[in-house]
Amino acid sequence: MESQRDYYEVLGVARDADQRTIKRAFLKLARTLHPDVNKEPDAEARFKEVNEAYSVLSDERKRANYDQYGNPNGPAGFGSDFVDMSDIFGGGFGGMSDIFESFFGGGRGAQAARTRGRDMGITLRISLAEAASGVSKTIAYDRLAPCDDCDGKGVAEGGHETTCSRCHGTGRVVEVQRTIFGQMQSQTVCPTCHGSGRVVDNPCDTCQGEGRTPSHETVRVEVPAGIFSGQSIRINGRGEAGVRGDTSGDLVVTVQVVEDERFERQGDDLIHIVEIDAIDAMLGCDVEFEGILEGELVAARIPKGCQYGEQIFVDGRGMPRLGSNSRGRMVVVVRIVVPDDIADEEELLLRRVRDLRSETHGARSESTNDQQSASQQRSAKARSTKSRPRKRPFRGGKK
Ligand SMILES: [Zn+2]
Ligand SMILES: [Zn+2]
Repeated sequence: MESQRDYYEVLGVARDADQRTIKRAFLKLARTLHPDVNKEPDAEARFKEVNEAYSVLSDERKRANYDQYGNPNGPAGFGSDFVDMSDIFGGGFGGMSDIFESFFGGGRGAQAARTRGRDMGITLRISLAEAASGVSKTIAYDRLAPCDDCDGKGVAEGGHETTCSRCHGTGRVVEVQRTIFGQMQSQTVCPTCHGSGRVVDNPCDTCQGEGRTPSHETVRVEVPAGIFSGQSIRINGRGEAGVRGDTSGDLVVTVQVVEDERFERQGDDLIHIVEIDAIDAMLGCDVEFEGILEGELVAARIPKGCQYGEQIFVDGRGMPRLGSNSRGRMVVVVRIVVPDDIADEEELLLRRVRDLRSETHGARSESTNDQQSASQQRSAKARSTKSRPRKRPFRGGKK
């Protein structure tokens, strides 16, 4: 598991930064983090992160998707168990090497060419309920997979892989040039074997000796219960295949949990708003509602004299904790609605209650009218918030 940071944050640029700013920020970071230069243990991971951020933000379409959906591939991946991500080729980690090469001028300089497969990244959107229960998803995607016809070896029947005679397996050649300044020596990647140090005498027709071919594949990913947005699941060996049987990269599935209409997640807690009648608030009552897990009912007792915004905690009914059997709390936030449909008979009783209260609590002061108008304002507010489809918890309420 690893958490994914915001791409703008990774590059240290504003959300409205223009392409020049983004590129400058990327180049500056890439120079200091490049694994050939920076030997700190986390340099490579940070370098990858910077590359990934840049590959998205430098592409206007992916950037727009990322801004709108938090996902460079658009709003795919939600609402079904089967997710097609044909678009990911060259996205995420896939485009890394190209950036790498354009920046450092031809791969890792004089080093042998990379033959290991690259890691690939995709984003999977799931609902909060799926994050709570855990879910199994089938993702379809494109990658370079080991060639079927040669078993990934890159060699046709009867052929062999041998050491490159031009560079003697080192993957690089030294060129000597005579110039007016004297002899100049430069090392370049071997043009015969492209730096791998190996050549095949009879390459496979299908993959042209690469040992890998483009392939549309599916992979099953098990999302554990309690996962947080931004965490990722690494599937070993399901990224890009290596050249001629070299190690494959991994597929990194970053999970994005979509906001829920009924519950707001805060860590392992879930916040849920219930509306109750003002009379129920005065007298106390029991409420029951559907929880985050399928078929689950959550019961809470609203205490007598409950105030607007008060929170009631129900242990063990929040989000499951990752890798554990325990769960967070359900935080029930009480919203009080003043009834505006009091029947005549009820009104008589309520007036009687008011009279009783002024007898027991002493005569009401002249501020009666003020209090009335204040309570009318409150009820107007409750009505107006009630009609909003999106419910936000009342913040700052007492615990
Ligand atoms: Zn060579
Ligand atoms: Zn082949």
